[in-house]
Amino acid sequence: MKILHWFRQDLRLHDNPAFSHAAEHTIFPVYIFDETEGHPFPIGSASKWWLHHSLKSLKDSLLGNLSLYRGSPQDILLKLVEKHKIQKVVWNRCYDPWRIQQDKVIKLSLREKGIEVESFNGSLLWEPFDVLKKEGNPYQVFTPFYQNGCLKGRPPRKTIATVTNPIFYHDTNSLSVENLSLLSKQPWEEKFHHHWTVGEQAAQKRLEVFVEDHLSFYKNGRDFPAQYHVSKLSPYLHFGEISPHQLWEEINQIEPNLHTECFLKELGWREFSHYLLYHFPTLPSQNFQKKFDAFPWENNETFLNAWKSGETGYPIIDAGMRELWQTGYMHNRIRMIVGSFLIKNLLIHWKKGEQWFWDCLLDADLANNSAGWQWVAGSGADAAPYFRIFNPTTQAKKFDPEGIYIKKFVPELKELPIAYLFEPWKAPLSILEKAKIIIGKTYPHPIVDLGTSRQKALFYFSTL
Ligand SMILES: Cc1cc2nc3c(=O)[nH]c(=O)nc-3n(C[C@H](O)[C@H](O)[C@H](O)COP(=O)(O)OP(=O)(O)OC[C@H]3O[C@@H](n4cnc5c(N)ncnc54)[C@H](O)[C@@H]3O)c2cc1C
Repeated sequence: MKILHWFRQDLRLHDNPAFSHAAEHTIFPVYIFDETEGHPFPIGSASKWWLHHSLKSLKDSLLGNLSLYRGSPQDILLKLVEKHKIQKVVWNRCYDPWRIQQDKVIKLSLREKGIEVESFNGSLLWEPFDVLKKEGNPYQVFTPFYQNGCLKGRPPRKTIATVTNPIFYHDTNSLSVENLSLLSKQPWEEKFHHHWTVGEQAAQKRLEVFVEDHLSFYKNGRDFPAQYHVSKLSPYLHFGEISPHQLWEEINQIEPNLHTECFLKELGWREFSHYLLYHFPTLPSQNFQKKFDAFPWENNETFLNAWKSGETGYPIIDAGMRELWQTGYMHNRIRMIVGSFLIKNLLIHWKKGEQWFWDCLLDADLANNSAGWQWVAGSGADAAPYFRIFNPTTQAKKFDPEGIYIKKFVPELKELPIAYLFEPWKAPLSILEKAKIIIGKTYPHPIVDLGTSRQKALFYFSTL
């Protein structure tokens, strides 16, 4: 029997339920890059870079036996099963609403041709359709979802060992990774190489380093962007180079403590975002709380561009936006601060931020990104209240007290004494001169006044 395994966001061999199932027979590993028209969320630029390298790494692990195609998955799969006499097609489920629709159609059309189809859970600890309140409705608040729905429910499945010596089938007429044209000619992508090693083995290594060097600082350390006591596993999780089951199992082998509990809870937030997207498919495009539809957003392109390019005059915001641009990643605390600033000080719609992150983040993930933005805006399920407006200066003093993170990404401020680093515009001229800074020339004036913009936002929110 010949089984086609359709790789999607499960670019790994270990703990891959569909792949292991298929490898009991002759396995035909396939990846289809789909940029067809009508695709509602085309992959972002940074993610394309990651995907390119991830596919190369996967192809190596498969000893070259990955057949690549470009186009509509439905058309391609239907042709492949016929041409290569395939009896069964398997995949791991993706839970983005448009994919669920697409998969249903594909499943049906393959079955009509007499092909067996089976899908598996490779990416979520709990199936979103299994976790419901007593009355049968989905949860909308994180704590009861996680505590009652997840932890008191059926435990996540055990991880599955890597298949040894599978028998491969390969289409010699398929494309190479380069043929998919995922890499652009933009030099900014090149920088990612300095920060990331892509692929399943790199994910495993990163997990080991995290557990060894950072986990015991996680609970408090995860809030300090200069310390990086976080796993930075998000892109690997998004592309499925590591599964949440592997993390869950690994962390649960350690004697439970504050840090392990906190890390598992963050995986719980990941589950919650995917759960929300599954049950509320308009999460990426519409306010979860409808009253936010009446908010009078301001459409200020100058402000938006200053935010995107890290030129707002607020050092912690500029550091965060430049970290994103330079590394394809941004620390979670900083995502919240720059998000709050965009929405609640610049009064720009959260969707503009969501779109920018979608294009620039290597971990851009439909569920986590839309849930994250709606959480910051206050418009989401179980979101931060609208009146919680992060003050970027106070946040910077608290979470980057020595200014290490700021100086790393805003090097033009590195000579400024710490007393003025968080508010350079307040420094006396003599200090600025000594630090070789001209406000308005080498570093911008603050683009908005925090106090007035905050009052304006609070007023608008109070009218909803
Ligand atoms: C505005 C905004 C946008 C975001 N966009 C994304 C996105 O596109 N993709 C993405 O993966 N995460 C997103 N997040 C969530 C979070 O910031 C990242 O998951 C986290 O910073 C990734 O870094 P890490 O792997 O070092 O996290 P760690 O602290 O090491 O956490 C481990 C894993 O837990 C999950 N996790 C942690 N925090 C959250 C959270 N708040 N929500 C959901 N899952 C979480 C992630 O999968 C993460 O890899 C966003 C958050 C905000 C506020």
